Amino acid sequence: MARTRRCTGAWLREGALALALTFAGCAGPNLWTDLGSVSTANSNRGRLRAPSRLPLHGTGFRVPPRWKERGFQYGTDELVAAVRRAAARVHASDRRATLGVADFSRDRGGSSKWHNSHHSGRDVDLLFYTTDAKGKPLPPPEHDMITFDDDGKPYVGKRDKDGYHDPAWAERRFDVRRNWELIEALLTDPSVRVQWVFVSDGLKASMLSWARRKGRPRAIIEHADMVMRQPADSLPHDNHFHVRVYCSRADRFHGCIDRGPVWQHEKKSFKYDGPERYDPVTWRRLASEELALWRTSSQRAR
Ligand SMILES: [Zn+2]
Repeated sequence: MARTRRCTGAWLREGALALALTFAGCAGPNLWTDLGSVSTANSNRGRLRAPSRLPLHGTGFRVPPRWKERGFQYGTDELVAAVRRAAARVHASDRRATLGVADFSRDRGGSSKWHNSHHSGRDVDLLFYTTDAKGKPLPPPEHDMITFDDDGKPYVGKRDKDGYHDPAWAERRFDVRRNWELIEALLTDPSVRVQWVFVSDGLKASMLSWARRKGRPRAIIEHADMVMRQPADSLPHDNHFHVRVYCSRADRFHGCIDRGPVWQHEKKSFKYDGPERYDPVTWRRLASEELALWRTSSQRAR
């Protein structure tokens, strides 16, 4: 720790040459000895070092062939672990539920022809959970991101000019319950702090109203209401979730940069950048306690 601080001081005092030398002699090894993944710079102009790789299948999730071929299964340790835990949690309440995981980042991050962001291992695209008309969970499509209207019915959207590969696409319905459970699992995961879940306004509204109707914890509903967003500058996000997490504390030290808003409950963690006294997990722990209480009371009710 002390060595690290001295290095940071040198960075500030000396000019560009010293910066280069310091990088080679000090920050470099520090970066090498960081045993975890490192996300650097922005999500739209960054890189990824020593990432975790999501396996192609595991408990409650699968990478369908279209995304397997691209090979974008690399993310920060925290995000990959959180997605695995969230999929496992949804699967635990219904063994038929399988999350389709599309792209994280390339093995070293950086740009690609498919994404503006996804540069630094802190973005992931997740296919929606779907059911048949009777409510039975269906496996994720192999090659399609299916577009859903505000009522959760599928249609061939503008970007799907050639239709879908999936022969059963017209029978699929947006699975409000499991999609909500996924969001809830990500928001209460202790290893990540979610900045955005991009999704269309209509699908967001249907998940929130389901959650309210079922009496899900209020803190989580409010949190979800804040982070779920239809981006103003793009097509409706109605064929998958795009999840972005904030830089981890350790990665911020290595040059990871967050763009956009810092939500109220995250503010202190930014103010005390570096050696933080504020524990950004506290909020989520409180939310989880509320969730545990909810679970106990709903079990009793059964
Ligand atoms: Zn995306």
